[in-house]
Amino acid sequence: MDIRSSFEALDKKITSYGGLDGGGITRLLYTEEWLNAVQGLRGLLKEKGFTTRFDSVGNLIGRIEGSKYPEETIMSGSHIDTVVEGGHLDGQFGVLAATVAMESLQAAHGQPLRSLEILALAEEEGSRFPFAFWGSKNFFNLAEKAEVESITDAKGIKFEDAMHQSGFDYRTSDNDYSDVKSFVEVHIEQGKVLETEQKSIGIVEGIVGQKRYTVNLKGEANHAGTTPMGLRKDAVVAFSKIAVELTERAEMIGDPLVITFGRVDPVPNTVNVVPGEVTFSIDCRHINQIELDQFASEIDKCIKRIAEDEGVSYEIDLWMDEAPTLMDKRLVGEITKAAKQIVGESDCKLMPSGAGHDSQIFAKHVPTAMIFVPSINGVSHNIEEETEMDDLVKGIEVLKQVLYQLAYEE
Ligand SMILES: [Zn+2]
Repeated sequence: MDIRSSFEALDKKITSYGGLDGGGITRLLYTEEWLNAVQGLRGLLKEKGFTTRFDSVGNLIGRIEGSKYPEETIMSGSHIDTVVEGGHLDGQFGVLAATVAMESLQAAHGQPLRSLEILALAEEEGSRFPFAFWGSKNFFNLAEKAEVESITDAKGIKFEDAMHQSGFDYRTSDNDYSDVKSFVEVHIEQGKVLETEQKSIGIVEGIVGQKRYTVNLKGEANHAGTTPMGLRKDAVVAFSKIAVELTERAEMIGDPLVITFGRVDPVPNTVNVVPGEVTFSIDCRHINQIELDQFASEIDKCIKRIAEDEGVSYEIDLWMDEAPTLMDKRLVGEITKAAKQIVGESDCKLMPSGAGHDSQIFAKHVPTAMIFVPSINGVSHNIEEETEMDDLVKGIEVLKQVLYQLAYEE
C-alpha cells in the first residue's frame, strides 16, 4: 500500500466537505459541512474494515480489534473541525495520518496485538461557539451542559439547537477511557521553527498554557460632532490603550509570551457616533504556568486602571484557562526512536508547541505525545496553509512506526 497516494486520495475526498473554491476549508461544529465530513469519514473507515461508532456528542471512533490484548487501546487522531477559512491540514491531517498509518499497518502486518483506534474529535477550535475542546473534553467527561446551554454562534443559533439538529446530544453516561494506553496526535506545526531549521519531524515535549478572555467595556454612545473630547466616555479609546499597553509589556517580557487581541466589536460601529461599547478578545500563552499567571494578573490590573481612567465600566470573562502540559516521557521516547529510524536523527527536533491541541486535554488523563510536521512559511488558520508532500508522508511513516512499536510489539 502506497502511503502517499492513499493519503492524497483520502485528503481530496475529506477536504471536499466544507472545501472552499479558492482552497482551504470552513467546517464549523454541527454545521452541514461538518456533518457531511464526519459521516463521509465514517463511510470510508467502514470500507477500509474499521468498526466505527459515534459517541453522543459526535466524536467518531474507528477501531481495529487487537488479537492478544484487545482491552488495551493505542489511539491516534485529532480534530475534524476547522476555523473559518482554515486550511486542509490543521486537525484533519492528524485524523487522516492515523487512518493511513493504521490501514497500512494492517495491510502489512495483519491484526495488531493491542487494539488500534482512530479518533476524529468533533471540535477543538472554539471557532463557531465560544467553547473550545468540546470533543476532547467530552471524551474525558469534562464538558458540562451548563457550560454550553446558553451560548450561541455569531448568528444567534444556540449551541444545543445546532447539536440536536446534527443528531447529537449531551453525554448521558460517562465515557470509559481506561482502555486507552497511549494517544499519539500528528499535527502540522503551525509555526516556522521546523522550516527555519530544515527539520521534517518535530517531537513535542510540551504544550504552552493558554488563557482566553472576552472583555466588555461600556462607556457612552454620543454625537461625534457635539460631544467635546473632554466629555466623552469612548470605549474604543479605552480598548486601544489597553491593547497597546499590554502588547508593549508582553514584548518587554519577551518570548515565549504572546498576547493577541484578535476580535474587536465596537457598538454602534458607525462613523459619526462616539463608540459607547466594545467587546474584544484576549488570547495569551506561555509554556511556564507561573509566568502566565503573573501576566494574567497584569492583564486584570491594566484593564481595571485604564477603564477607570477613561470613565468606562468593564467586565472580564476568562472563559478558557488551560495549564501548560508536558507530554508523556515514555511516548516521547517511542517517537524519538521511530523518528530516528525513519528520517534520521539530524532530521528531527525536540520542541514545545506554541499552539493549543487536543493532546493537552488527553495528557492529563492518558499517556500522550505529539508529532509535528513543518508548515510552509509557518502559515496556518488560513487557506494558504500547506506542507510539502514529502514531509506529510514522513509524518505518517513516523506515526506508523510508533503505532507498530506500541500495538504490534510485545
Ligand atoms: Zn489543530
